Amino acid sequence: MPELPEVEHAARMLRRWLVGRRITRVEADPTRVLRGIEPEDFARALGNRTLESVVRRGKNLLLAFDRDVGLSSHLGMTGRWVRRRAEDPARAHSRVRLHLPGGDVVHYVDQRMFGGLELTTRSDLPRLPAVTTLGPDALEDEIDAAFLARTFARRNSAVKVVLMDQTVLAGLGNIQATEALFRARIHPSRRASELDRRELGAVARGIQKALEHTLGMIDTEELAYLSDGAVIENPFLVYGRAGEPCPRCATPLETLRIGGRASALCPRCQPLTRSAPRRGR
Ligand SMILES: [Zn+2]
Repeated sequence: MPELPEVEHAARMLRRWLVGRRITRVEADPTRVLRGIEPEDFARALGNRTLESVVRRGKNLLLAFDRDVGLSSHLGMTGRWVRRRAEDPARAHSRVRLHLPGGDVVHYVDQRMFGGLELTTRSDLPRLPAVTTLGPDALEDEIDAAFLARTFARRNSAVKVVLMDQTVLAGLGNIQATEALFRARIHPSRRASELDRRELGAVARGIQKALEHTLGMIDTEELAYLSDGAVIENPFLVYGRAGEPCPRCATPLETLRIGGRASALCPRCQPLTRSAPRRGR
């Protein structure tokens, strides 16, 4: 499902397709994707508007239009923004369509409709609860051992659960947290507060590397590895690979349920006890 890299991809594509272009017409289907607004009112508010900027905060997209119109977009589990031509056949699960001059149509597609589109004023975008409750952004803000030490100090939950808490750190979901902890050689069930400074440094670098790895694959207009929220071509090191050999040591990868989510890990590279060098052995 969409995590920071996929939402960053959506932000880049929306900038490429929409910024500086006037939306000539809007079609909005009556679905729960529209938050607190009737389809006709939604269509009227965005019609004739020109997108001026797109900002990503965690997994949220904040779209600022002219005339003080703001739109916040959350992709939920299966949401995507895609560009098609007006003459293309109807698109399955398309919920909102933004028509542009010249025949391009930008669709908001969402099979399961856990995503949401909320219309507001541009000036209120940074004040939406979905934004003000977020912790620092995992990509844009400086996430280092010192930040993690401060943040994790009183958190006794499993480190993976803490990493996925958007109020702690915004942007990571199951995939990126799983990958970051594998890269850091930290067992996902370790208590966040128990990690020492060396381990926190490894987690900070693991987050950065996991995000960079996925961001390196998102330059195409549509993501090849993801369809309707499901990973169809697995580009990840351990996510979704239980039973396969660890890419580092060839031990079969295992999967554990942590905080209700499946977590792939290497039992050898990510021991539950603190790794041996720390004990001076
Ligand atoms: Zn391993």
